[in-house]
Amino acid sequence: MPNNTTSLPCQPLTETLLPTEAENQAVAQHQLEMLLKACIQCGMCLSSCPTYGVTGSEAESPRGRIHLVDLWQQERLTAEAIAPHLNNCLGCRSCETACPSNVQYGDLLNTSRYLLKQNTPAHWFAPIKRWLLATVLPSPAWLQVARLGALLYTTTGIAWLANRLGVLKLLPPSLQAMEQLCPPVAWDDTPALEAGQRFGNLDAPIVLFPVGCVMNTFMADIHYATIEVIVALGFQVLIPALPCCGALAHHAGELSLSQQQALATLQAWQALNTPTTPIVMNSAGCAAHYKELAHLFPSDSPLHAVAVAFSKQVVDVHEWLLSQVKALAEQLKVKNAEEQRVKAIYQPACHLYHAQGVQTEPLAVLSVLPAVEWVPLADASLCCGSAGIYNIEHPALSQQVLDAKLDAIEATGATLLAVANPGCYLQLRKGLQQRGLTLEILHPMQVLARYLG
Ligand code: SF4
Ligand code: SF4
Repeated sequence: MPNNTTSLPCQPLTETLLPTEAENQAVAQHQLEMLLKACIQCGMCLSSCPTYGVTGSEAESPRGRIHLVDLWQQERLTAEAIAPHLNNCLGCRSCETACPSNVQYGDLLNTSRYLLKQNTPAHWFAPIKRWLLATVLPSPAWLQVARLGALLYTTTGIAWLANRLGVLKLLPPSLQAMEQLCPPVAWDDTPALEAGQRFGNLDAPIVLFPVGCVMNTFMADIHYATIEVIVALGFQVLIPALPCCGALAHHAGELSLSQQQALATLQAWQALNTPTTPIVMNSAGCAAHYKELAHLFPSDSPLHAVAVAFSKQVVDVHEWLLSQVKALAEQLKVKNAEEQRVKAIYQPACHLYHAQGVQTEPLAVLSVLPAVEWVPLADASLCCGSAGIYNIEHPALSQQVLDAKLDAIEATGATLLAVANPGCYLQLRKGLQQRGLTLEILHPMQVLARYLG
């Protein structure tokens, strides 16, 4: 839980505080040397790695990737030789949870990808990807344009016609994957939330609820369900003016861009002047990035110190709800009595389970629902193959990882699947459709909201 006694740093946050490219490279180089030293090559992480699981290749395992980076640093392998194996990594950080030597694999991966980008020729898609990360994602207006495109595609018969004529099969695999992952949209969808909106009793204690970028545009109903649950517990929800977190840029090795986006977040947070109010998050990937924002800056940078203070306020919604579980059970009593029992499974998002270490809290919270029987899911903590935009960039490997997950899901006989990350939601929804499985898929907050009396 966050430490609410943090005092708000008052230093003006300007672009002059951002590290230069040369400083970034020097720090990254030093960090990588330190991170590599922690690995003792024991192999305890291998069985927890989804890409090793589906390929059986040492080069696609955490130990293998770390060894490859080490050989590159010793100039015994080229950047071009090792880059494909680093790019094939999901970044799920399951290996971090399994590691007895506390190897910070997530930092090692991001740092390696950043340095590899400086040492390998840019892919033709790189400028488009950077435009998407730098311009489209942080802009609500651009995201609405994307949503309009998805609406026109899915509701005017274009999607049906393209399928019917077999046009989609002619597209490159990445575009086919993008088409299959298109979020469910409708003309009468709940509108995106806006900064400054408040919900609940205005005298009640405040909870800040950042709504992010893609999730707010394409899955606002999950946000509304989360707000409903928080308000039902006697809190007031305020949507703060915090921009897109920049997690996807960071994972893509775009360090400077993610630092600029982090600076924008810290500036907006400083302007809020609410140093003791919890920042409650329902998207695992965004929350994990917020909690580790300080990792983007050198430890002697003022931005590092401000980011540490910011991160202490951030809390995953399941973590936060666990402290309210008694009140939650009270709220849910009446409705539960009328409901039929449902068999359900919970798929932990990697950025919740491995990156944030929020492992038992979601099921502890969800278990207050007497009408829902939560049955175990085999290898639940393994990735579903979504991993940001991995499923678009590496559709074949992502599909193999997804297939293993779907086998496990199918074996449970459940009718409801709960998952707490928008990317996983779309990936699993695609998989369920591929197999013709009729499980309903919801965010845990939608499950809770359904049973509110
Ligand atoms: S990452 Fe950890 S578990 Fe894996 S080989 Fe290295 S020390 Fe062992
Ligand atoms: S982050 Fe995931 S995919 Fe990558 S090496 Fe670790 S366990 Fe394997």
